Amino acid sequence: MQSTSSNPIAAREAGQTHCACGAAFPIHEKGYCGSSGYAVLPDGRKICYACADKQQIEELQDRSKPFGAYVSGDGQTITSWTGGRLMDVTQSWPCTLTRRSNWHSSKSYRSFRARDVHGKLWYGRGSAGVCITLRPMNG
Ligand SMILES: [Zn+2]
Repeated sequence: MQSTSSNPIAAREAGQTHCACGAAFPIHEKGYCGSSGYAVLPDGRKICYACADKQQIEELQDRSKPFGAYVSGDGQTITSWTGGRLMDVTQSWPCTLTRRSNWHSSKSYRSFRARDVHGKLWYGRGSAGVCITLRPMNG
């Protein structure tokens, strides 16, 4: 597998126009407010969505901490913020909020169980179409 960190400093200084994988970033006019077409890493490097997805899929292997991801609008899939498929929801059921919450609709609030692309299980709570926190599940 090709390393994405082949020469990050040079890439950053060159006003990066391409991802390390070779994909060109889309050029948008000033005022464009859709998706940028690339992600910016904490160190300032830009990567394309495909690489961002790949990276998030790799991060799933670290099961020592919770993972933030989006529930698809139909509630069937867990995706990265760039839209890549990370997990399939295996089970979901309405869950009762234990205390009153203003920003969650209690009707759409559900518990989710999902199996990631590596075959590992996660669980979380939230609503379809929003970012939720998933925690590793044993078994
Ligand atoms: Zn890329």
